[in-house]
This record gives sequence, C-alpha cells and structure tokens, in this order.
Amino acid sequence: MPVRVKSADEIRLMRESGQKLGQVHAALRDMIRPGVTTAEINAEGERLIRGLGGIPNFLNYNGFPASICVSVNDEVVHGIPSDDRVLKDGDIVSLDAGLIWKGYHSDAARTWPVGNVDPEVQKLIEVTRQSFFEGIRYARAGCHLYDISKAIGAYAESFGYGVVEDLCGHGIGTHLHEEPQVPNFRQKGRGLLLVPGMTLAIEPMINLGTKRVDWMPDAWTVRTADRKPSAHYENTVLITEGDPEIFTL
Ligand code: MG
Repeated sequence: MPVRVKSADEIRLMRESGQKLGQVHAALRDMIRPGVTTAEINAEGERLIRGLGGIPNFLNYNGFPASICVSVNDEVVHGIPSDDRVLKDGDIVSLDAGLIWKGYHSDAARTWPVGNVDPEVQKLIEVTRQSFFEGIRYARAGCHLYDISKAIGAYAESFGYGVVEDLCGHGIGTHLHEEPQVPNFRQKGRGLLLVPGMTLAIEPMINLGTKRVDWMPDAWTVRTADRKPSAHYENTVLITEGDPEIFTL
C-alpha cells in the first residue's frame, strides 16, 4: 500500500480527531494515582472517547479486548487493563489510546509517574518524551523518514537506554496503521522523502536497560527482557513545509 498524502478536508478531520484524543489524555492524566486499577483507567478512557463522539479504535483491533492499552513498569506496550492491576506508589504507567472521528484515526501515548517515582525512572520518562521532539525536528518536507528514526535513536542511546526495535510508529489516516513504518533507530539509507500532507504516528518506546523485549502468553503484552522499566511517548503529526503540526497535543 503506497503512502497516501491527505487532502485539506482529510487533514481537517484528522486535526479534529487528534484534538479530541489530546483531551482524553489530559483527562486520564488526572486520574493517575496509587489505588487506581488499570481497568478503571480503561473504562474512563472509553467513556471520554465516546463522550466526544469518537469510536475507540483499539477496541477489538485484531481482538484487543479494551479501548486503552495500559502498560505498567516493565510492560512496554499493549498491556491489557485488569481489575486486578492496582497502581501503586513508585510505578510508572503508559497509556496508549486512539479514536476514530468521522472515519479518521488518531493515536497517542503518554507515560506518567504514579506518586513518587525513582529519579532514574523519572528521567527515562522525560528522555523518552524528548526523543520524540528530537525526531520531529526532521518531520518536515524535504527531510527523509529515517532522519526521524536516526534522531530519536541517537538521542535515547546517548543516555545509555535501550531503543525498542521490535515495534515502531506508522502512517495513520483512514486506517490506524498505514504505510510507512516509522522505526525509532538508525536505518540503512534515509528512506522515504517526506512531503506535506503525510500523517504519521511517531512513537519512541525506550527501555531503561536492554532493548530486547518478550511477548507474554496473553499474545498482547510486551515486556522488557530484563524486566526493567520502559516508557512510551507518541503523537499523530502532520508533515508540512515547516514545523510539523502535532494533532494530539
Ligand atoms: Mg501507534
């Protein structure tokens, strides 16, 4: 499937979709505290998405059983919300959420501290977030896709962190996952030439220790191989002639 450049009307709908998702994340942030279950976060996320007129795009995606991926500590992504998983002081929690608005998808992720977090882990969260912004310096017309990948990976690796290679970002639009794939580490060559109207979900997943990950028997949850913490930060962005527009902030 070729990379599709969005029309002005499509961009308007993707902007609306992303703005709604940004509101969902802002509201979910306020409920992160010790004692909350990951199922409660999912339920509130789904209520917020539907309340804004959206459809949760993760729900039933390849059979995923929830609207929000809630991944705790060493869980990298795709954590399944559960009544039994209670957040406790010192945890970190990654929320990955998405919605469909008038046929257009948005996708974004945040990692939040729960109560008081080890400074080393707090730094992982901040570097992961910043690695996204280092990457999107190259998310503009005239740059190439892998310029983004290289910048994300180089920044995270400069702190000695493990950059997850088994999962990557992606194009987004009328489908949650479109071409191209957006890796978070250096590739051969520079890849696709970026042009205005491309829409990408850029999402570094950065580990405190090894970059290697394991898939759990639930067929969804991805954990770090060394069980050290992992952080995730993602936004849906539009390529323009200048700075990218971030739809989901
Ligand atoms: Mg994504």
